[in-house]
Amino acid sequence: MAELLYPRSPDGNYYDERETWSRDKMRSWQLERIQAQVAHAYQNSAFYRRKLDVAGVAPGDIKTLDDVRRLPFTTKDELKQDQHQNPLYGTVAAVRPEQAMRLHFTSGTTGRPVHVLDTQNDFLGFYRSYARGLYGMGIRPDDVVMCAFGYGPWIGFWSGFFAAQDVGCLMIPVGGMSTEQRIDIIETYGVTVLGCTPSYALHMAETAKKLGKDLSKSKIRITWHTGEPGAAIPSTRKKIEQAYGARVCDLPGLTEIAAWGFSCAHESGLDHVHEDYVYPEVLNTETGDPVGPGEEGELVFTSLYRQALPLLRYRTRDIVRVADRTCSCGRTLFSIEGGVVGRLDDMKKIRGVIVYPTQIEEAVRHYQEVEEFQVRIWRKDNLDEITVLIDTGTQVPPDSFQNLTRRMADELRKTLGIRVDVQAEEPGSLPRWDHKARRVKDERSEVPF
Ligand SMILES: [Zn+2]
Repeated sequence: MAELLYPRSPDGNYYDERETWSRDKMRSWQLERIQAQVAHAYQNSAFYRRKLDVAGVAPGDIKTLDDVRRLPFTTKDELKQDQHQNPLYGTVAAVRPEQAMRLHFTSGTTGRPVHVLDTQNDFLGFYRSYARGLYGMGIRPDDVVMCAFGYGPWIGFWSGFFAAQDVGCLMIPVGGMSTEQRIDIIETYGVTVLGCTPSYALHMAETAKKLGKDLSKSKIRITWHTGEPGAAIPSTRKKIEQAYGARVCDLPGLTEIAAWGFSCAHESGLDHVHEDYVYPEVLNTETGDPVGPGEEGELVFTSLYRQALPLLRYRTRDIVRVADRTCSCGRTLFSIEGGVVGRLDDMKKIRGVIVYPTQIEEAVRHYQEVEEFQVRIWRKDNLDEITVLIDTGTQVPPDSFQNLTRRMADELRKTLGIRVDVQAEEPGSLPRWDHKARRVKDERSEVPF
């Protein structure tokens, strides 16, 4: 895997030359890497040897990129089951634990975590691609960076920390610190870049306000966000932009796969995908066929670099829209419109209508008065009901509540195409989130699907 250690030129517009490779060059790189990964998985992972044998595909059968479609899919449930039956790392692990350097857990909002081992080169690939994303956002060696997270077993901001270090930034570790202490660090040390979940960014801005401080007056010029789709949701992004007076960037990623994309400094509304680290397919959720530019489908990734967990055609459950335009930055990388549109796992059917929580968030965040919200889906007399609970902090006089909830209910009805009830809760009563926000509560005993 020495090819990951390519020379880079972090003084130009791009972090490395692969960002502007021609389509032919990229495709031949991808094919070569896929062939190597399939051979490696077949040889070293009993899980994949079994799967490929069942599918009747041998490593030598992958002669073109179209042949990738002959490979079987991999799902998160399979990984969970494999690791449950073969603790701790499952038969999927293609290296021995002693060959690995780091262990992380998946941080999804549902079920048991997957153990993810990484070799030294695996982790390097993870944070090197991440660093390309940060550089693309405009982060430079003279930046002072704070990754505001707990330094727990999740890879997201660990790799973000190493990535910003790779760019050459001054890093300030703030694990185990309170939000108040972190605000103090931002002011004292002139932090210019903040990395955290969108929920935590809003929570920290809210805390600062209560302390009589205004983070839009701090030196922070760029914030980047991962772990939740918020930075790709226009109204949430705007709210963070205003709170910090900064450019807000999206960095979608998956522990099992990579920090796979980023929105660049050109603010085109596109997310670029590190297709030289992870081979992307976007597939129609019903037919399984690849979708064209401008169309939506499930994002499926084949890892091109990870040795310990060489995932083939991994179903991310993320719905994305393939870009039908290019970005003015000149990158030739595969791109998607906006970030993740929604997660298949989060998709709700309410009175027969498909609803993604991201659509609700987009509508709710239009209202500056709303600090936090929660969505309750329940059933009354066999009919689905959806109630959005809002928490305004202390900014709204009680008699304005009614006007606010009415306007929001109206907007949500237009956005989602179904009637939505909006209720104002006691200020400060809804939970705040610093990691994966769980704002949707589906209380129905039988969920349609
Ligand atoms: Zn761009």
